[in-house]
Amino acid sequence: MKKIQMVDLKGQYNDIKDIVNPSIQEVIETTTFINGPKVHDFQKHLETYLGVKHVIPCANGTDALQIAMMGLGLKPGDEVITADFTFAATVEVIALLQLTPVLVDVNEDDFNININAIKKAITPKTKAIVPVHLFGQCANMEAIMEIAKEHNLFVIEDNAQAIGANYTYKDGAKAKAGTIGHVGSTSFFPSKNLGCYGDGGAIFTNDDNLAHTIRGIVNHGMYERYHHDVVGVNSRLDSIQAAVLDAKLPHLDKYNKARQIAAKKYNKAFEDIEQIITPKVSNGCLEICDTCNCHVFHQYTLRISGIDRDALAKHLNSQGIPCGVYYPIPLHKQKAYLDARYNEADFEITNKLVKNVISLPMHTELDDEQIEFITSTIIKFING
Ligand SMILES: *Cc1c(COP(=O)(O)O)cnc(C)c1O
Repeated sequence: MKKIQMVDLKGQYNDIKDIVNPSIQEVIETTTFINGPKVHDFQKHLETYLGVKHVIPCANGTDALQIAMMGLGLKPGDEVITADFTFAATVEVIALLQLTPVLVDVNEDDFNININAIKKAITPKTKAIVPVHLFGQCANMEAIMEIAKEHNLFVIEDNAQAIGANYTYKDGAKAKAGTIGHVGSTSFFPSKNLGCYGDGGAIFTNDDNLAHTIRGIVNHGMYERYHHDVVGVNSRLDSIQAAVLDAKLPHLDKYNKARQIAAKKYNKAFEDIEQIITPKVSNGCLEICDTCNCHVFHQYTLRISGIDRDALAKHLNSQGIPCGVYYPIPLHKQKAYLDARYNEADFEITNKLVKNVISLPMHTELDDEQIEFITSTIIKFING
């Protein structure tokens, strides 16, 4: 059996080697390292794939979020509501811009931001909501957009984990994750569903004015050479990364499909195990089917009950099976983000999830033998 890895990028590379190697070589030979034609090509191809008017490439997913917030003109003291159960980057950029993060609880079944918790957290100072499409499926965007409209708030989608996922509206219409709010962001970190060979990110919007503002912000606030109209940053996707991404983008649906197939096999193996709750698909068709991309499984995350998680993780590792806990500590309990206004009772679900989630290996190269070994090792551990 091939060694099991949490993320295995080698198979993808072998598949696109003949395209990506000469393409990287071309960037080097032509010395078009920054803002070269590859960046422009990738930007256009991603706009078409997502069905969004503007893609603005940048240096990483954290920058993408920060720049999106800068572009919206949010001011120090403005309150921004986001999920307590996510990667720290989301709350970090809110705090960096001297906005006030307001962390709220999530849903137990799909791990995404809870709609009632958002409603409860709104004050006259609230200016934006940042839903995070955690582990590969969209938050309840229809409800979030309604709340935003009612209270005149911006919606910034942190789509670092769900690129290529579809969101399905109640009427059956679909939109790509990250293109529904006023602005969306993503990360091309190597282990993300569309990953490059270093760091990369992008911002998406259908708003022409916002796109223009953001294009200046990523380039030192310059709209005309050496005229700095606003305070900007330096955040660029380099041409070598764009060459890799442009070679991978045509395969993204296939990559996401491979993740769904692996998730389906995991689900099947655990279907009769009462101590394990498999991940719920919560929008659209409510299951992993062959026609939609409701969930693109950036992570395959189980909830366990009546099992010692540390002992299970230790056992899996001893058998050569990596696993992860995303995320072990709620953001509201992190030293950097403590806030006297928070009330523990408002974080019941996150406080529970951090103790009972465990993520299994998930990538595009998992084979049946590996999945069989992983699932049978877990089931044997549970059954003693
Ligand atoms: C990975 C990730 C980011 C940050 O992306 P980087 O490219 O590593 O800066 C932000 N938010 C979420 C939810 C992520 O998973």
